[in-house]
Amino acid sequence: MKLKQSEALFERSKQIVPGGVHSPVRAFRGVGGVPPFMQSASDVWLNDVDGNSYIDYCMSWGPLLFGHQDREVQQAVQEALARGWSYGTAEPYSLELAELITQELPWVEKIRFVNSGTEAVISALRVARAATGRDKILKFEGCYHGHGDSLLVKAGSGLAEMASPDSAGVPVSVASDTIVVELNQEEALEKVFQRQGHQIAAVILEPLPANCGLLIQREEFLKKVASLSRKSGSLLIFDEVISGFRVAFGGMAEKIGIQPDLVTFGKVIGGGFPVGAYGGRADLMDWVAPCGPVYQAGTLSANPVAMTAGVAMLKKLKRENPYSALEKKTKELACQLEEVAQQEGFPMKVQSFSSLFWIVFGEMDTPDFVVRTPQQTPKKSKEVYSQVFHSLLENGIYLAPSAYEVSFLSTAHRPEHQEKLVKVMRQAIRKVMQK
Ligand SMILES: *Cc1c(COP(=O)(O)O)cnc(C)c1O
Repeated sequence: MKLKQSEALFERSKQIVPGGVHSPVRAFRGVGGVPPFMQSASDVWLNDVDGNSYIDYCMSWGPLLFGHQDREVQQAVQEALARGWSYGTAEPYSLELAELITQELPWVEKIRFVNSGTEAVISALRVARAATGRDKILKFEGCYHGHGDSLLVKAGSGLAEMASPDSAGVPVSVASDTIVVELNQEEALEKVFQRQGHQIAAVILEPLPANCGLLIQREEFLKKVASLSRKSGSLLIFDEVISGFRVAFGGMAEKIGIQPDLVTFGKVIGGGFPVGAYGGRADLMDWVAPCGPVYQAGTLSANPVAMTAGVAMLKKLKRENPYSALEKKTKELACQLEEVAQQEGFPMKVQSFSSLFWIVFGEMDTPDFVVRTPQQTPKKSKEVYSQVFHSLLENGIYLAPSAYEVSFLSTAHRPEHQEKLVKVMRQAIRKVMQK
């Protein structure tokens, strides 16, 4: 495989862009090597500037549930473009998207559109703090909520579960208002609530943590999180930026039957265009300007082209209801991949939920062990993943370029793509074992 053009572009880009990319994982630091620069994509295919094509299992990190260039979204966007692409005024397109969502998801009584998941989370936290009059936020280690200061934190070493910054530039004073707790640990959570429950404005979590591997939580744990936050008067925020409209139309809230007070969306909601949203109980959302005193605004918020893409996406999801077929296909793929590893005598596990899957390498305590916290991921998984990743890439398969990111299936993935991945995975495993 040649990457000559990509190499040249990467060199040029690194001169003027930090790391050569506009979002860190794209630089391939987690797996090493030069990232192919993609010039086009359609169906399941990513096509790079050197003429290589790859079956895409990353799907723009989740939004493209129907594959690249879905015809319905494409047509809607083309029609939207012909009407002009930004008005900076009230318009009917966001209303259609808002109604589509609020009519189907009863826990979203009111909604506000923004441009990214990060913005949605920052805004939801601000509402929670205003409405409760409390400052502290509780988050879980291994959950990602975008790059807002309050959540770019890690568990501190000191007393009282105070977090410390997980990025340079995040003030210690901001981090100290966040409490970080382990996933999958009811008792630890109870203790935190006993001590600090009355100070916690909101508990935020990914009900399906999918940004540090796919850390599927037990329903009892999720229920415990909900009941503890209710009891202490803290708001429950589901960050469904990845799971919303992907695991079910109503996301994890629908799947597990827990209604959050506030919820954040992104990714699928814009069909591949930059859209985020936060919503929830009307009494909480009425805190937002111009209704209430919580300020939040956006020059390009509810951009009519992006809104139209979202409407097309959600209408198609509602009509086709692809969720159970996608889940079946993903389970099948996960089983086949695990079977190959077993036949080759290679320690590998594929955790899947709905249309998300995550490949982990290394020995587990028991064959049916489920990785539920970041610490349970075998240490050597990262190194093996990098080797397997590159072997797959050379054979035309594009997985998420990091051992800690999940991969996605779309409705465009067909049996021949699955067969190819399974076949190439066997070759990759053999190659790694020879080393
Ligand atoms: C992707 C993601 C975000 C951040 O969204 P951006 O659009 O990248 O800012 C926040 N929370 C979760 C759960 C995500 O998966």
